[in-house]
Amino acid sequence: KYTIAGFDPELAKAIEAEEQRQEDHIELIASENYASPRVMEAQGSVLTNKYAEGYPGRRYYGGCEFVDIAEELAIERAKALFGASYANVQPHSGSQANQAVFHALLQPGDTILGMDLSEGGHLTHGAKVNVSGKLYHAVHYGLDRATGQIDYVRMAELAEEHRPKLLIGGFSAYSRVVDWARMREIADSVGAWFLVDMAHVAGLIAAGVYPNPVPHAHAVTSTTHKTLRGPRGGIILSSVDDEALTKKFNSLVFPGCQGGPLMHVIAAKAVAFKEALEPEFKAYQQRVIDNARAMAATVLERGYKVVSGGTDNHLFLIDLIDADITGKDAEEALGRANITVNKNTVPGEPRSPFVTSGLRIGTPAVTTRGFLPEDCARLAGLICDVLDHMGDESVIERSRASALELCRQYPVYRAA
Ligand code: PLP
Repeated sequence: KYTIAGFDPELAKAIEAEEQRQEDHIELIASENYASPRVMEAQGSVLTNKYAEGYPGRRYYGGCEFVDIAEELAIERAKALFGASYANVQPHSGSQANQAVFHALLQPGDTILGMDLSEGGHLTHGAKVNVSGKLYHAVHYGLDRATGQIDYVRMAELAEEHRPKLLIGGFSAYSRVVDWARMREIADSVGAWFLVDMAHVAGLIAAGVYPNPVPHAHAVTSTTHKTLRGPRGGIILSSVDDEALTKKFNSLVFPGCQGGPLMHVIAAKAVAFKEALEPEFKAYQQRVIDNARAMAATVLERGYKVVSGGTDNHLFLIDLIDADITGKDAEEALGRANITVNKNTVPGEPRSPFVTSGLRIGTPAVTTRGFLPEDCARLAGLICDVLDHMGDESVIERSRASALELCRQYPVYRAA
């Protein structure tokens, strides 16, 4: 099947094994999805050969007339999808999109206020180990212990106390709706810029099943490969009528943080955005939420704790502190049952980030392969069986057989 097989059998074997793994394992990592064959076709096209530093119509290289069309299509579709007046589709990743916006709005040493990594934020929102935490003075807001929801009162207090130049909304592990308008008010109250990193919920937002931050924020960044189901990459959007600002974003992506754009990936983004504009995408995203709710309901019925008591989006967190199971052990046991999840810190986490006391469960990938809420309820039951009997290999074996049965019922790329 792969033409590289005759040339590089070692690599071909690894790719084929990964394809098999994706077919045979139930993928519940909340940040993953399966891009369509069309998206992968664009990404594997001759556009990979083209240097196109600059922007459409203003390139530093000749021969850009066709890649210009691809980039214009991606820009126009991104704007239409999210109701933005500005889009930059060149960031190679979500992290680089954030970095470009930070450089456009901040000076080293400025204060930023973002969600704590251990409470659901992302590394690039000021974590110590990330350049965002080294270059800027990072302060963090988090969750209300009692509700498991974002503590806006504390956020406002922190803003008042630290007077950040930038307030960051968005998360990697939070299961509720964020009040973007309230965050904008908090930013305005201290004269801060407001950035939303919607990476996790971009697909839900594009489909209109989760609130759109674009009207509220000065800048919105995202990845394109999570719920949005495109190629790996990033984007920056804005609806602010301020050409000086958007020009700054452009010049901080290129030449500020990046060199030549990945034109094949930009073409794949254009395909993904077109897919997201189709009516079926809305139905898909609604099912992503329905599936997450079905799983969370089963987990709760089986006596496990869910952070905030449920979910309004594509993910939820199982809190295993009371069950006295580590996230690490649970992740390993479920992995042996062909169910892929990731360990995650939970509010009040007593263990290290390498061990943790929680699991993050997300439904974008299983929904793409066709799982319905009843399948997700069954799947959550399999997860609870493994958690109920940690260390019991026969339970793992039975769950694995059921997981494989579900995988056969819903192939990813190998439709019967
Ligand atoms: N922002 C958020 C909220 C994320 O969850 C992630 C990825 O997990 C990123 C940014 C980083 O994206 P990338 O891995 O493309 O750099």
